Amino acid sequence: MGVTFLHHPNGNHIYSCKECDAPLTNKDEIFSKRFTGSTGRAFLFNRVVNVVHSDSNCRVMLTGRHIVRDVYCKKCDTKLGWMYEFAVNNDQQYKEGKTILEVALIQERPERTVVHRDFRELMRNHRTMAFMYDPNSEQA
Ligand SMILES: [Zn+2]
Repeated sequence: MGVTFLHHPNGNHIYSCKECDAPLTNKDEIFSKRFTGSTGRAFLFNRVVNVVHSDSNCRVMLTGRHIVRDVYCKKCDTKLGWMYEFAVNNDQQYKEGKTILEVALIQERPERTVVHRDFRELMRNHRTMAFMYDPNSEQA
């Protein structure tokens, strides 16, 4: 039985999973707010943590053909959006490696929270692990 180790995205304006409150990213990582997901508004983020990715699949969107992976919360498995792995059209390649999170499925925390203090305590015990960035890793 492993415990899911959650990374902290740092920063003050944290976005977390609406279902389980796992921290996912922060305001500084927003690349664009002008996207639409299956539930409505969606943001494009440079970097997102505490998620797992599905296998890649090809999707034809309004802006052309893309290879994407669905993105799920690492803690509660809720589908939160998708990650652009590859864009066929040159003018869409800025999206590669970036992640869409649907606004309806995430929540914004205004300031530093209890989770942040918990994370510091965690870091004292797991100092070396805490800086490893691997969205798919699980630490026992
Ligand atoms: Zn979650």
